[in-house]
Amino acid sequence: MWLGLDDTDYLDGGCTTLVFHELLNALPCKYGTPRLTRLWPFASRRTRGNASLSVELFTDEDTILPWLEEYWNEKLVPLAGKVSNSEHSNRKQYPSDPGMTLFAQQPDEDYYWKAVRGEVTFYQGGYQWGGIGRIGAAASCAWREHSTTWEGIAWRKGERGVDKDVLAQVDGIEGTFLCRDPRTKRGLISPRGNCPIMFGVRATSFDVASHATNLLIDGSKPTIGSRVFVTNQASGDHIEGTEIDTVLDKEVMPGGHVLINKKYLAFSESGELNKICQWLLPGDRFECIGLSYENKIHLEGLQILDSTQKSRPICSCGTRMKSMGRSQGARCPACKAVNTEGWEFKKRKIPIQGWVQPAPDKRRHLAKLLL
Ligand SMILES: [Zn+2]
Repeated sequence: MWLGLDDTDYLDGGCTTLVFHELLNALPCKYGTPRLTRLWPFASRRTRGNASLSVELFTDEDTILPWLEEYWNEKLVPLAGKVSNSEHSNRKQYPSDPGMTLFAQQPDEDYYWKAVRGEVTFYQGGYQWGGIGRIGAAASCAWREHSTTWEGIAWRKGERGVDKDVLAQVDGIEGTFLCRDPRTKRGLISPRGNCPIMFGVRATSFDVASHATNLLIDGSKPTIGSRVFVTNQASGDHIEGTEIDTVLDKEVMPGGHVLINKKYLAFSESGELNKICQWLLPGDRFECIGLSYENKIHLEGLQILDSTQKSRPICSCGTRMKSMGRSQGARCPACKAVNTEGWEFKKRKIPIQGWVQPAPDKRRHLAKLLL
């Protein structure tokens, strides 16, 4: 059996990971590794980071169905209708609309791919409780774990606080990632605000996530519990492929956002990614990944393939030559010397070789580790 849960978050509580943790603690049966899935970042009713949760249950329908029915009514229904916390105060605030799903067989994998790459409607089938959260719950159940990382999450008892030295130690363990900003050394594992999460530490294996979680708990203010989730974070599943293009037009907008070819958008907050886009000139070739939204591609990674600028050659007398007309080469306006090529090509030194991504704290949970 497959159980899914989503959209229980609201301003002062209901954090979906903690609600799910408590549900798992209460379950009357054995279960698999809990799964945390991130879905399409632009979903119109997304909650924090758009995480949804699921788990395989080792039981039968007759046992679990009445139990879930009761748990839903007692513990989850009261969370509905509360106003959700958004990181952006200007975004429309939606009340939480929890959803829970139960399937005998995993839903079609296709439903996961649709939900991670675009807007979807409800999945038909299985047992479903509640509202909009049923979408994320079913999509999480449909995930096949083909490209995985792990996240160890601990929830706080009171104050939030993680020891800096322990965090540095965990950051140094082979197999953890995005624990600290590599440049500023600022921690990236703790959310801000009212969320009950003490930290979430990401790793490329279950064992490393588990080890790092235990170290961090020892170096934290009191916690009430922890779990390691298998996730689709850093899978890149939300993006279909890369695009190769040539710069025709570059516009630096008010606020520092860069728009290339009226299509590719690099936000000012995206750090080096924004800087390298500012550096581009017409004629430069690049490869990029990004999410298509409202006729723009929001860039999540870019590498410059070639930057060759052409100009009219400088004559031996020191004057810049001028065109003699279409495909006619160039002539010096001072001494009338002729250059039959007409152009000089010069490669610019690319400031950062390879893929450039937004600053670590501005990256999407789904963003692949390109570096
Ligand atoms: Zn000359």
